[in-house]
Amino acid sequence: MQSLLEARGLTATYGATQVLHGIDFTVEQGRITALLGANGAGKTTTLRAICQMMVRTGGTLSFEGRSLAGLGTEDVVRLGVAHVPDGRGTFTALTVEENLRLGAYLRRDKAGVAQDMDRIYARFPRLRERRMQQAGTLSGGEQQMLAISRALMLRPKLLLLDEPSFGLAPLIVREIFSIMRRINAEDGVSILLVEQNATQALELADAVVLLETGRVAIAGRADDIRRDEALRRAYLGY
Ligand code: ATP
Repeated sequence: MQSLLEARGLTATYGATQVLHGIDFTVEQGRITALLGANGAGKTTTLRAICQMMVRTGGTLSFEGRSLAGLGTEDVVRLGVAHVPDGRGTFTALTVEENLRLGAYLRRDKAGVAQDMDRIYARFPRLRERRMQQAGTLSGGEQQMLAISRALMLRPKLLLLDEPSFGLAPLIVREIFSIMRRINAEDGVSILLVEQNATQALELADAVVLLETGRVAIAGRADDIRRDEALRRAYLGY
């Protein structure tokens, strides 16, 4: 398998507080990688470090073999990395359609953008029905669908998702997980998924990186971790 994103000795610091203490992990091309860990382990910070957002980083990060050192957030987006932050980050005062258009802000291929918009509406009929509605009036699940769709409008190679299931009812969580599976299988988008819900993430993911207070406690194939009861009990609590 080809690696898409590689972190080696990655550190991250907010002011004087070091949160990541030199972590190594690889996101493979075409795969879903789950980034797990307790509250405060550094999962969100890892996504921010990849996007060169709000945090000072050290060590090396490379995407398709190219170093991300010295790049800004927009440069990383241009390379094909789309980030759906926690709290979703949709523009609540704008309509569904305006949010989707904004997602394509870096693209100049108008025909391709229109085509992608149609594809998104075909995949998410609820967004089509609500295209003129303000994003802030959507349900939590619909807002998450919109946030993911907006990121897809960039035609990313890698999608970074920060707790897309947070605060959603179980039925909706299942729907969001099935959306992630389809995006990966049908569109070939690689995914790095931050999740609190370890059980469901392990079912979806091909690979797992588990953080404990800013260090990698386990990294491996999701299958192996699912089968290893002692490991599951020790680190995932079930
Ligand atoms: P959670 O699931 O609770 O979001 P997490 O694993 O995503 O946890 P992070 O959000 O990465 O963890 O936070 C890791 C540590 O960094 C925490 O101790 C947090 O308080 C600290 N931290 C996060 N953002 C900042 C910031 N902007 N300034 C200072 N410290 C921060």
